[in-house]
Amino acid sequence: MKVQEYKAKTILCRSRISAETYCLNPYVGCQHGCRYCYATFMKRFTGHRERWGEFVDVKINSPELLAKEARRAHRWEVIVSSVTDPYQPLERRYELTRQCLQILLEHQLPVSILTKSSLVLRDIDLLARFDQCEVGLTITTDKEEIRRVFEPHSSPISERLSALEALHRQGLRTYAFIGPILPQDPQQLAERLRRLVDFVYIDRMNYCGKIVGLYRRHGLEFGLEPGYFHHISLRLKEIFSADGVEVRIVF
Ligand code: SF4
Repeated sequence: MKVQEYKAKTILCRSRISAETYCLNPYVGCQHGCRYCYATFMKRFTGHRERWGEFVDVKINSPELLAKEARRAHRWEVIVSSVTDPYQPLERRYELTRQCLQILLEHQLPVSILTKSSLVLRDIDLLARFDQCEVGLTITTDKEEIRRVFEPHSSPISERLSALEALHRQGLRTYAFIGPILPQDPQQLAERLRRLVDFVYIDRMNYCGKIVGLYRRHGLEFGLEPGYFHHISLRLKEIFSADGVEVRIVF
């Protein structure tokens, strides 16, 4: 793993995901190295030769930049993070996400966090003090052996569920991001998420040759069948809706 520290020029960027929203990414690159990661396009801007998941550039001055930029920021929601995981293992050492959250809290800017790591629990003391804060855990399957194939370096499913439970118990607004849908038993997955989330996002997988090869090598061809995503997402929606949990299908 190649880790490089550098000084960024800005930290709060306007989001392209939705209007009147900022993104905050203290790291470029992600140790989680998910096989399907959509953020690999970021590699083009870095000059790295290493594979995605094998380098991280650390914006070492993120808190200093944010302290300046937050003073003149709109009161827009800040997405932490959009092209990396804010709680990848290096965050344990650098604590840049934590320091940035402290600054966002001073300004009470609304925050939305999405992660695959139970490390988010370290910051529950800060998160609980925001007026507006939502925390999502990505949970793409109920099957740990499938999680290990596609998301080899992030927290196990059971840890993510425990994190959601603790956050929800704390009174935080929580959600599950079931995306990309991986081969799963939707009934089991929904059952494990019951009472832990306020809402759910569901997204499909964008297949590429590399991903299709992984499916084939692991005997998961059924997940490649046309209609699989629709079938799973409708079933998930049916189950969650029966519990009064809002479902947003985003494909
Ligand atoms: S956690 Fe997110 S950003 Fe990191 S490798 Fe996985 S999909 Fe990409």
